[in-house]
Amino acid sequence: ECAIYPKAIVQDACASYATLEKLNSRVKPALDDLTRATDYFSHYRLNLFNKKCPFWNDENGFCGNIGCAVETLDNEEDIPEVWRAKELGKLEGPLAKHPGRNEQEKNPRRPLHGGLGEGVGESCVVDYDDECDERDYCVPEDESSASKGDYVSLLRNPERFTGYGGEGAKQVWDAIYRENCFQKSSFPHSADLGMSLNYNPAAQDFKQVMNAAGRQAQLQVQRVHHPNTPFVASTGYEVDDECLEKRVFYRVMSGMHASISTHICWDFLNQSTGLWQPNVQCYKDRLHVHPDRISNLYFNYALITRAVAKLGPFLRGPDYTFCIGDPSEDMATRAKVDEVTKNAGSVPQIFDERLMFANGEGPSLKEDFRNRFRNVSRLMDCVGCDKCRLWGKIQTNGYGTALKVLFEFDNNSDQIPVLKRTELVALFNTYARLSESMRAIGEFREMVAAENGET
Ligand code: FAD
Repeated sequence: ECAIYPKAIVQDACASYATLEKLNSRVKPALDDLTRATDYFSHYRLNLFNKKCPFWNDENGFCGNIGCAVETLDNEEDIPEVWRAKELGKLEGPLAKHPGRNEQEKNPRRPLHGGLGEGVGESCVVDYDDECDERDYCVPEDESSASKGDYVSLLRNPERFTGYGGEGAKQVWDAIYRENCFQKSSFPHSADLGMSLNYNPAAQDFKQVMNAAGRQAQLQVQRVHHPNTPFVASTGYEVDDECLEKRVFYRVMSGMHASISTHICWDFLNQSTGLWQPNVQCYKDRLHVHPDRISNLYFNYALITRAVAKLGPFLRGPDYTFCIGDPSEDMATRAKVDEVTKNAGSVPQIFDERLMFANGEGPSLKEDFRNRFRNVSRLMDCVGCDKCRLWGKIQTNGYGTALKVLFEFDNNSDQIPVLKRTELVALFNTYARLSESMRAIGEFREMVAAENGET
């Protein structure tokens, strides 16, 4: 039985770095094959442009728009245009609109508008089932918009350095970590404001409150929602270790942040030479001197591995189809999914979800946990760089899906976790991102050791 080792390296998970690295050497080839060589897992549908940041806007002094968030590099005008943040952050390749259910039913093999249909069985990438489920940890993509979103090729838009940074990016990270301030007496915190405000405001409610009471209200909202913000400027965000649930929330966020940083440092553009190459100094600054961040990344790997392993048997069954109307593509995709899930399940249980939301204040924290996670997923609409927003949304959806699989489906029940296509695609791509981060960190470690004359 998995225990919590307070001092273990991948604390809260029953695994060491070595176990996870060994596992990754088996999982990674299969995962890469799945996410790169199948239409189903290499296209993602999302609402990238139609949603506004629900938490702040220019009027109240924060900057969440592209104009001020992306222009962050010093002397951008000295950099060739193609290497500027605005260009690097742009999406590449055709965007294909969702065809809509009626149209699709009329002509199930019609190629998608915008070029995506070229050589791609439409049935492999289109999905409809995106109604909200109370068990969701993320906000479904079409929540606040009539538009069904765009299909984006993930292969054409790799997660890497874009130059996005500065105040805009920092503000999003700050807000993400502030969600970690769980409160004992949760609902509602509206008394101080003298108005009705739930702790988990739907984006609209939150906006109404903002508009109604202006900046004053916002400051109060921040104070009421996020007292004692655990931000320590010099060492990063710190978290108390009051209970497992709060710690896990923090670790998921920090691990996601660490993985994003790893990709930025590994796939870095040297803006004076125009070469894409690993940037060891970037790794040292953001990760090497912060072993806790790397540990959180490994923790996330353990968590997602467990979710994928738990889901595996269901994905093998008849309830999931990966390519309606194209049996051979369906079979090929299914075989690749199988390869990943079997590998993920080949180690003893490395994360025991039964320990969470179980004792003490645990059960009462579950809804709070879910609501906070949804807020983080809404915050992705505040990311001011298209490519970063794409991968931010995929990864929050991926973690949200993993949490849903772990905490909303009883291990002993025969209930089938029914996931939307976007959730599955996000889950496996998030797993692939973590897997690649672990590989890159291994190489970075060797580079640092070589620099230090240790090899
Ligand atoms: P940041 O990474 O902005 O960190 C802010 C502060 O958080 C740090 O000063 C530190 O105190 C703390 N911190 C840093 N890492 C951790 C951690 N792992 N755990 C806990 N605390 C930590 N840029 C790109 O080039 N490409 C992308 O694809 C991309 N995607 C992004 C996605 C999202 C959702 C966001 C919010 C930003 C993204 N960015 C991306 C921007 C990138 O993450 C950084 O914000 C930017 O590179 C500036 O980095 P920084 O060194 O100033 O610190």
